[in-house]
Amino acid sequence: MLYQRSSALFKEAQEVIPGGVNSPVRAFNAVGGTPIFAKSAKGAYVYDEDGNRYIDYINSWGPMLLGHAFPPVVEAVIEKAKQGTSFGMPTAIETEIAELAVSMVPNIDKIRFVNSGTEACMSAIRLARGFTKKDKIIKFAGCYHGHSDSFLIAAGSGAVTFGTPNSPGVTQGTAKDTLLARFNDLENVKTLLASNKDEIAAIIIEPVAGNMGCIPPVKGFLEGLRTLCDEHNVLLIFDEVMTGFRLANGGVQQLKGIHADIVCFGKVVGGGLPVGAFAARNEIMDYLAPIGPVYQAGTLSGNPLAMAAGLAMLKTIKADAGLMQRLEEKTAYLHRGISEALNKHNVIHTINRIGSMISVHFSENQVVDFDTAAQGNNDTFKRFFHGMLNKGIYIAPSAFETWFITDALTYEDLNETIAAVEAIAKDL
Ligand code: PMP
Repeated sequence: MLYQRSSALFKEAQEVIPGGVNSPVRAFNAVGGTPIFAKSAKGAYVYDEDGNRYIDYINSWGPMLLGHAFPPVVEAVIEKAKQGTSFGMPTAIETEIAELAVSMVPNIDKIRFVNSGTEACMSAIRLARGFTKKDKIIKFAGCYHGHSDSFLIAAGSGAVTFGTPNSPGVTQGTAKDTLLARFNDLENVKTLLASNKDEIAAIIIEPVAGNMGCIPPVKGFLEGLRTLCDEHNVLLIFDEVMTGFRLANGGVQQLKGIHADIVCFGKVVGGGLPVGAFAARNEIMDYLAPIGPVYQAGTLSGNPLAMAAGLAMLKTIKADAGLMQRLEEKTAYLHRGISEALNKHNVIHTINRIGSMISVHFSENQVVDFDTAAQGNNDTFKRFFHGMLNKGIYIAPSAFETWFITDALTYEDLNETIAAVEAIAKDL
């Protein structure tokens, strides 16, 4: 494959954009080489500026559950744009998507829309702190909740890929209120709660972690967190930015039957436009301005184009009773195929999967938390990444990320992907 135009564009971009990218995870620093510049995408494929076609397993890092340029989303956005792109006044479509989201997700009465997953999580902890009148939060090492200050403490995703899980610029004052626990380790959480009695406002968690690769919760972990939160009067916040409307219509709450107090959304809920949201029962949501004391706002929040895209997505997901099962089957097929191809060539690996989230770890140990995720062989991953890229398969350029499976993928696409793994496995 030739990447001439991508290379030229990257050079130009670096002159005026830090590192040439507007989000670090797009850079290839962790794997080496030049980032691919996307030109267009349709269904399961993304096309770069040099005319190469890739089967896409990033899918804009999650939003494209139904494939790129999904016609109902594109049409909804075009139609809305003709009527004006932003008003700074309430619109009917905001209520329409809110009603739909509330009907799909368990345990929520009200939802507020924001512009990103970061804003959703940042606002959720402010609300939790205001509601409980306590300051500290517990987060889990390797979980990523966006780039707001309180969360850049042992964060996953790009924060760990680029070696800055604790970012300079986050003050000691902020960092001291974020306590760190080990994912899948209830005893650890118990100890933190006991030694910070009556100080913890909330526990925030990716209920299926996706930012240190994919790590599902072990049996009893989420149930245990719920019980601990009840015992200690702590709010349980599920960050379902990745998992919401993906692992089930009602996210992990529905999938696992666990009740969260506040739920954060992003990605799928915006259909590829900049959207986030957070939701809870009335008692908590009514604590928000303008009816409650906790302030939260946004010039472009509930933007009509974003709401039109999100509404078209959610409507399609709700109407398609077979969608989640199809995604599950496609991902399970890919899982089996990749595993067989790697085993054939004795490549040590562990694959984690739940629903349409999957990750390949080049490690012989089970990957259950950040420490075990970090044991993966990064050199093997780099060879894997570039090998796949050269075969026209685009996965995230970091071992600490999840692959997002889209319904647009056909079994031919999956077979092509498995064949690519088989072809490169002997060189891993
Ligand atoms: N929470 C989770 C679980 C995420 O995966 C992400 C983004 N990958 C975020 C929050 C932040 O979302 P955004 O990038 O839209 O700010």
